[in-house]
Amino acid sequence: MAEIAEHLQKIKAGLPEGVTLVAVSKFHPVEALMEAYNAGQRVFGESRVQELVAKIPQMPQDVQWHFIGHLQTNKVKQLIGHTTLIESVDSERLLRKIDDLSAEAGATTRVLMQLHVAQEETKFGFYPDELIEFFRNGGHTTLKATHICGVMGMATNTDNMERVSQDFQKIADTFRTLRDDPTLGLSGFDTISMGMSGDYPLAISHGATLVRIGTDIFGAREY
Ligand SMILES: *Cc1c(COP(=O)(O)O)cnc(C)c1O
Repeated sequence: MAEIAEHLQKIKAGLPEGVTLVAVSKFHPVEALMEAYNAGQRVFGESRVQELVAKIPQMPQDVQWHFIGHLQTNKVKQLIGHTTLIESVDSERLLRKIDDLSAEAGATTRVLMQLHVAQEETKFGFYPDELIEFFRNGGHTTLKATHICGVMGMATNTDNMERVSQDFQKIADTFRTLRDDPTLGLSGFDTISMGMSGDYPLAISHGATLVRIGTDIFGAREY
């Protein structure tokens, strides 16, 4: 497991300034997370509510937790107040639920809106046009306790780097369309989360400000 520190060091050395590394620790034991923590890593990503909630009390308090998986509305409550960023808001219903529960709890929740650009039918999220329409209709203006910080997305799972490149470009273009529209009045809208172990250098070349890396840090997951 000493390899984890080595992997982290190697990855971080290749990240441009301003790109945040999320260590995706899902399915890995707390010992592995601690190895990363002791090597200086503070931002961790988990994709299952139960697993995240179980790990929080076992890790130091200054860990910043990102939730990156599909989130069911009936599990939102468990996350409120415990995450630095919920990256995977994939429906307006989920957004409203997060907002209502955050307001109730007197907390502000930071989120990213998840875009669907990949070819796979199974990927969750808003289509780019759908997300732009959400903002242009003022969907964000009625939020009480939620701050939308940017977008998150995944490229098609393929060896065809041309396709992956197109997907990342689509995510970045959608982000810029929103950020640069003065009628939307977005502030603190500055995050493009894209890129995983297999494709993060390409994501960075398309403007990613946050990359989510699991396998390259912790090794293969055992499901
Ligand atoms: C698991 C996961 C990752 C990390 O994938 P790796 O290929 O292990 O780097 C990134 N993003 C999301 C949304 C994930 O679920």
